[in-house]
Amino acid sequence: MKVHSDIEIAQQANLKRIEEIASSIGLKEEEWEPYGKYKAKISLDVLDRLKDKPDGKVVLVTSLNPTPAGEGKSTVTVGLGQALNKIGKKAVVALREPSLGPTMGLKGGASGGGYSQVMPMEDINLHFTGDIHAITTANNALSAFIDNHIFQGNACEIDTRRIVWKRVVDLNDRALRQVIVGLGGVKQGVPREDGFNITVASEIMAIFCLATSMQDLKSRLAKIVVGYKSNGFPITVKDLGVEGALTLLLKEAIKPNLVQTLENTPAIIHGGPFANIAHGCNSVLATKVASKLGDFVVTEAGFGADLGAEKFLNIKARLGEIKPEAVVIVATIRALKMHGGLSKSELKSENGQALREGMDNLAKHVETIEAFGLAYVVAINRFITDTDKEIEVVKKWCKDRGIEVAVANVWEEGGEGGVELGHTLLNVINNKKSEYRPLYSLEDSIESKITTIAKRVYGAEKVDFTPNARAQLEEFHANGWSNLPVCMAKTQYSLSDDPKLLGRPTGFTITVKELCPSIGAGFIVALTGDILTMPGLPAEPAALQMDVSEDGDAIGLF
Ligand code: ADP
Repeated sequence: MKVHSDIEIAQQANLKRIEEIASSIGLKEEEWEPYGKYKAKISLDVLDRLKDKPDGKVVLVTSLNPTPAGEGKSTVTVGLGQALNKIGKKAVVALREPSLGPTMGLKGGASGGGYSQVMPMEDINLHFTGDIHAITTANNALSAFIDNHIFQGNACEIDTRRIVWKRVVDLNDRALRQVIVGLGGVKQGVPREDGFNITVASEIMAIFCLATSMQDLKSRLAKIVVGYKSNGFPITVKDLGVEGALTLLLKEAIKPNLVQTLENTPAIIHGGPFANIAHGCNSVLATKVASKLGDFVVTEAGFGADLGAEKFLNIKARLGEIKPEAVVIVATIRALKMHGGLSKSELKSENGQALREGMDNLAKHVETIEAFGLAYVVAINRFITDTDKEIEVVKKWCKDRGIEVAVANVWEEGGEGGVELGHTLLNVINNKKSEYRPLYSLEDSIESKITTIAKRVYGAEKVDFTPNARAQLEEFHANGWSNLPVCMAKTQYSLSDDPKLLGRPTGFTITVKELCPSIGAGFIVALTGDILTMPGLPAEPAALQMDVSEDGDAIGLF
């Protein structure tokens, strides 16, 4: 059988014009604006018009700890949306926008795969409607405003050694992690240490994704802490007076983007924070708009349930007042075998024992979703290399524990391959108790919130705070920031903060090395282990395969 690549399938797609998609979900003409034939921006006015309409049911797709290639959450999200439409439900898919870091790096794009992709895949994986550009620009405008403020006399008395605001670029570029700016003499500015984060780890991206209206966007931007005075007093964007300018730079980007899947299911793609070094969920506005336009919203949160889902449930759902109905936990045979001790080169051959041993990792994520009080289904994302025997092992493991399970063959078959999962999910929604509750209370101390996540979600024995992080705990408390949720930054590969500890490690310690205030976003970031907020490229980046054909088509995107 010839297996077509994602981009080959995408280039054969039979897309509807975006006006057809918009009218299929009841958008009025004045509520959307076309960006070419297949993309549109949705006006936030729609939330006002539909404020009394009951929300559609929100289904969150998460997974076990992934391999570096990803386990198909986006693919299953798209496939499940298509499947629900196939069985007569009105479903809208809500996804994050891909970042160019992984697209050019190791993992490729993030628009689903096989016959479950969002379209137009090339645009979505490249510059799309320019939202990431707008976020990058707003971020770097703030850096320019800070440096200019200092150059012009520093009326706010910012301590140039304590500026926490960094510049950003949406690429994996390790050479920019630490830089010196303002070199070149008196006319060029004031020299100081700076650094770059990847855009999708920036606070502006987080704010963009958590804002509930234009006004809320502006008030969050105003609260950003950019640095400190020498007496330790925080300086905010409001002190610099630039929240209006930053809001202006984001005023079009904040409108959710409407596209479609390969089977013409409506999809909203908006915002794209990473889940390891940021909060990992698409925008609250996109999810809310989707839940007003569809009876079901299928959305994803990045990496395993220890990262994206934890943050969806402790941060996004709480701050955005979104009530998730059920969770789909994606598992793949290859990731389970990897957690069972196999190396990358051994993953394609059948190995029941490694598979059974790897189930421990899935078990931990199942417990996490149960701890949040939610009903769930395990979805086995089927690869053509999986054997029936292997699929049976996972099904039996689930059935022995009373866990609902379904095979998703959406990569190969599109919506048709997700019908079993769709029915299982509907059955779970109708018959299982599901009562979402966050894992910690906002009144808990920052230390206690981190400890709760580390012990209950990761299975850690204890948490160590470095002397630096301990001092920050006290400082943040004194600044009145204790009541914010925590956004954990941790490796996606392991439940622990050591990427090499696969399976279900026990007895380990989580080390918190630094805390960062994201006061505008409304959370405290806790950096654990060796996690970095600017990734690097691998030895053989995906970029080496990329090109443009003589006809002007993209080559090498996946
Ligand atoms: P995630 O959202 O979990 O990171 P993706 O849905 O982006 O994962 O999938 C990662 C990669 O794996 C994509 O290139 C996708 O085409 C591929 N993929 C996903 N599911 C399958 C499958 N069942 N068979 C083959 N390839 C798949």
